[in-house]
Amino acid sequence: MSHIVELICVQCGRRFREGEADTCPTCGPDEGILDVRFNLKSAANTLTRAALATRDRSHWRYRELLPLAEGFTPTPAAVGFTPVIEAPRLAQLLGIRRLRLKDDGRNPSGSFKDRPSSVGVARAIQQGAKAIACASTGNAASSCACAAASAGLPCYIFVAKFVPEGKLAQLLAYGATVFRVQGTYAQAYDLCNQACEKFGWYNRNAAINPYLVEGKKTGGLELAEQLADAPPEWVSASVGDGCSIAGMYKGIEEMRAVGVTSFSVKMLGVQAAGCDPVMKAFETGKLDRSFAGNTYADSINVAVPRNWRKAVNAVGASNGAFVAASDEQIMKAVVETGRSTGVFAEPAAATAIAGIAVARQKGILNSQSDVVAMITGNGLKDVAGAMKAVGKPHDVDPSMDAVAWALKV
Ligand SMILES: [Zn+2]
Repeated sequence: MSHIVELICVQCGRRFREGEADTCPTCGPDEGILDVRFNLKSAANTLTRAALATRDRSHWRYRELLPLAEGFTPTPAAVGFTPVIEAPRLAQLLGIRRLRLKDDGRNPSGSFKDRPSSVGVARAIQQGAKAIACASTGNAASSCACAAASAGLPCYIFVAKFVPEGKLAQLLAYGATVFRVQGTYAQAYDLCNQACEKFGWYNRNAAINPYLVEGKKTGGLELAEQLADAPPEWVSASVGDGCSIAGMYKGIEEMRAVGVTSFSVKMLGVQAAGCDPVMKAFETGKLDRSFAGNTYADSINVAVPRNWRKAVNAVGASNGAFVAASDEQIMKAVVETGRSTGVFAEPAAATAIAGIAVARQKGILNSQSDVVAMITGNGLKDVAGAMKAVGKPHDVDPSMDAVAWALKV
C-alpha cells in the first residue's frame, strides 16, 4: 500500500483512484494532466526529521511520499541527496546577498531526471512490466536508460534528431534501443506513446504518466530538508515542459505539510527567450499551441509543453515569477557558474542562473535576495553547447618560451 489517496485533473478537478486513468478522459490527453495526492497526515506519522536522520542518503529516503507500494525495490544506482553548495562569488556577480546551488548534475546519469526515471523504473517493475520506454530531448532518456540498466529492465528510447552526442553516447552505453526520430520532439513523443500502447511497454513520459512528477518532487523534498535551518527566499529553476519546477514546488510544500519543515519559497521559473511558451501562458492564462521557437539549451527546447498548467499553477501559488533569458545570457551563465563555483552546468541548468541575472535587472530580486538555483544537468552532457561559450585553449610549442609568451610575461 502506498500513501496515494487519489489523482486530480488539473484542468477540471475530476478525481480518480490510483490506476484508474493516466490522463482525464473528459479533458483529453493534452489538457487533462493528473496530479497525485498523498495522505500527508498518515505520511507525517513516520516521515519525521528524526526518522530521516537514520535513513539512506538517496531520494528513496522519502518513501512515504513516493508513488510506490511499501516494500518496493529501489533501483541500485544511488539517486539524489545531491549537495547544496554555497556560491558567494557568483552571488556577488549577480548582485544578490546569497546564492546556493543544488548540484543535481551529480546524479548517476548526470541530471535531475534521474529522480523521475528511477521512480518510473521502480513502478514498472512493481507492475510487472517487461520493458520501459521514453521520449525525450535527452536527459529524461539517458536517465531512463541508466535506471533501467541498473535494474536489468529493457529500455526503448525515442529521441528527436537534435539530441547532443554526449547524451546519445550515454543511451547507447546503457544498452537502450534508440530510435532517433527524423522529426520534431512532439513527433517523437507521439510515436513513443503509440509504441507503448502497441507493445505493452511501461510509459515513462512524464506528462502522460502522472507518477513521474512524484520523482521530480524528490528534488523539492530534499531542498526542503537540506535547507530547513536556513531557508532561501527564492528557488530558481529552468522550465521546459513544466513538470520539473512543478514537482520541486510540490516537494517543498509537502515537507511543510508533514511538519518536517516550516518554510515556503517563491519559485522563479526561467525559460529561454527563444522558446518561452510557459512564460507566455503564465501571463495570458492559456497556452499558444501554435508556438514555434528555438533555443540552444536543448533540455528546455520544448515548443509544446505538456505540463504548462502545473508549472503556471506552482509559480503562481508560490507568489513567484517567470522570466526569460536569451541564449547569449545563458552562455554567459555557463561560463560564470563554472569559473566562480567549480560547477559545470549544461546550458539548460545554467538557465536558472541566467534567470537570476534577468530577475535582478527587472527588480524581481534585489541586493538582499537569498536564492537557491537548481543545477539540473552536468555540462559534460552537452560539450558542443558549452564550447560555444567557454573560449579556446592556448596552442603552444613544448617550450617555456611559448608558455611565457602565451601568459604575456
Ligand atoms: Zn479533467
